Amino acid sequence: MRIRTLAAGLLVGALALTACGKEGTPSSGGTGDSGANSAATPSYTVAQNVDLPGSATFAKIKGKGGLTIGVKDDQPGLGQKDPTTGKYAGFDIEIAKLVAAGLGYDESKITYQTVDSGAREAAIANGTVDYYVGTYTITDKRKQQVSFAGPYFQAGQGLLVRKDDNSITGKDTLKGKKVCSVTGSTPIQRVRDQGLTEPGNIVEFQKYSQCVEKLNTKEVDAVTTDDAILKGFAAQDPDTLKVVGEPFSTEPYGIGLNKDDSVLRNKIDDLLQAALDDGTWQKIYDATLGKSGSTATKPTIQRY
Ligand code: GLU
Repeated sequence: MRIRTLAAGLLVGALALTACGKEGTPSSGGTGDSGANSAATPSYTVAQNVDLPGSATFAKIKGKGGLTIGVKDDQPGLGQKDPTTGKYAGFDIEIAKLVAAGLGYDESKITYQTVDSGAREAAIANGTVDYYVGTYTITDKRKQQVSFAGPYFQAGQGLLVRKDDNSITGKDTLKGKKVCSVTGSTPIQRVRDQGLTEPGNIVEFQKYSQCVEKLNTKEVDAVTTDDAILKGFAAQDPDTLKVVGEPFSTEPYGIGLNKDDSVLRNKIDDLLQAALDDGTWQKIYDATLGKSGSTATKPTIQRY
């Protein structure tokens, strides 16, 4: 009995060593990629003695000794929670960590809080999250309630369909089709505004993974949102799903934060700019979204 316990302990120890023995954060995708696609996520230098006079959010973070970051939990490659380990991984999660490090906090001080699209403005405005990183398009309408650092990425609206469906090839082939998207998102608004399908054919959920489930069970014919999100779902299930057509919008992703906290916004813009300039942004991309082979152009920070 004791020997068995000892052996089990040694095995766990060995596994832990394998997982943590490399420099930086262990690559979290768990996709088993090798060779050119096995780029690991970078490690971030935690800034010392950061002070941001005039930032109410930063004062609150300091008081708590840690930060709460709003994210998505079901978007492969961007923000996804591993149901077994409870760990979050993806491009957005790395951006969240990079900013936290620049503010003086390493990952152990981060509490991730899943906030779906329809609940973002409220979660930011009422302080449930200190900032939000989750495929959050910068729009003038949202700027009435929150502010945005960035953009740190640019996506475009696309379509996900079943692989054997050749009847949907782009946004102008959706009439008469059931189209699914998420409450409070820019893509569902665009489907409505442009009348891409009949109002009765628009199906809406809180999460994109729920739409993808309905696509698989043939209760809907297409899922629409940012191509970056849809590519992640297609990559998980390449035998049954595909992304079709050309992107039909521009979706610049911002980090959402309190509307009045321009001090924090400027600081995050500085941190993003530095990551774009010193190669860290590219490393993050290569270790997450870029694993599918896609390339991305660097965004230009829009200060205001
Ligand atoms: N980027 C779009 C938005 O902010 C769609 C993705 C999402 O819902 O997060 O609404």
